[in-house]
Amino acid sequence: MAKQYDIVIIGAGPAGLAAGLYAGRARMSTLIIEKEKDGGQIVQTAEIENYPGGLLEDSGPSLVARFSAQAEKFGCEKVLDTVREVELDGPVKKIVCNKETYEAKAVIIASGASPSHIGCPGEADFTGKGVSYCATCDAAFFEDFEVYVVGGGDAAVEEAMYLTKFARKVTIIHRRDELRAAKSIQEKAFKNDKLEFMWNSVIKEIRGEGLVNSMIVENTKTGEQTEIVADEEDGIFGIFVFIGFKPATAVFEGKVNMEKGYIVTDQEMRTNVPGVYAAGDCRVKDLRQVITAASDGAIAAWQAARYVDELA
Ligand code: NAP
Repeated sequence: MAKQYDIVIIGAGPAGLAAGLYAGRARMSTLIIEKEKDGGQIVQTAEIENYPGGLLEDSGPSLVARFSAQAEKFGCEKVLDTVREVELDGPVKKIVCNKETYEAKAVIIASGASPSHIGCPGEADFTGKGVSYCATCDAAFFEDFEVYVVGGGDAAVEEAMYLTKFARKVTIIHRRDELRAAKSIQEKAFKNDKLEFMWNSVIKEIRGEGLVNSMIVENTKTGEQTEIVADEEDGIFGIFVFIGFKPATAVFEGKVNMEKGYIVTDQEMRTNVPGVYAAGDCRVKDLRQVITAASDGAIAAWQAARYVDELA
């Protein structure tokens, strides 16, 4: 028989964990289902300076550990499993996972988003062999090597600065001639001696022998293609890709309203399906941050608890 809860939360990033805390404190029987480890994207973030009240030296993992402990303190259960299918209509929602099936009166979708890929030849072949989407995870492999960072947003520029602590030289490859990143982040980047910029450029192909050792870069204005080859002594270089995210919502397609794969909610995190809420990076919104994810989670849980109370 399926295990039953008042509220099932899908995803243990900042949105899901904040929802777990609020649902637990509302005395709802609550389960968080997470397919990997807690934290979502922020476990891949070296420094989090902009979560109010966070410790200045906080890393993603340390902040997440406190989020998790706090949710568990208020009785929220957690399980490692992958959601395969959902039935969200009606008063009893069914969440079918690889290992178990769960039933809930209300569901909060906090499934987050994952990094976008360039989509060029060689990218998939060399992932983990020179191509990375996580500076915190892989920066140390490139101690004293050259590294290229793709993207021009906050993530690309912040992670590029982080990489300068390890790599000999970091070059940001951006498809336009100005960054999208916040001005305060740009100011720091332009002052960083180890950071260089390759404007109006995109990677067309990644090559190597076992590990990345060359790539073809195209100038978006002139169409001219250049081969960038690893320094002879190094023999390899790194490519870190930070070009935005894709929502992890495939399993909810056709079940709740979406726009370009992101779940549509009202400002109380309600989807178009009664008793189903969405929180964090998986929903349509402008600012995707830890603080906005946590805020979404709190609102979603509060609304879900109200919905469950009204069912009784
Ligand atoms: P983003 O802001 O969407 O920036 C993506 C960057 O990648 C843009 O510069 C974009 O170029 C470029 N890009 C997109 N597709 C590309 C492609 N196929 N090939 C080459 N370049 C491509 O994404 P993000 O930097 O990951 O940030 C996501 C959200 O998290 C944002 O809201 C951001 O503010 C937030 N964030 C905040 C912080 C912080 O405040 N500390 C840190 C990290 C992230 P164009 O500029 O030409 O579009």
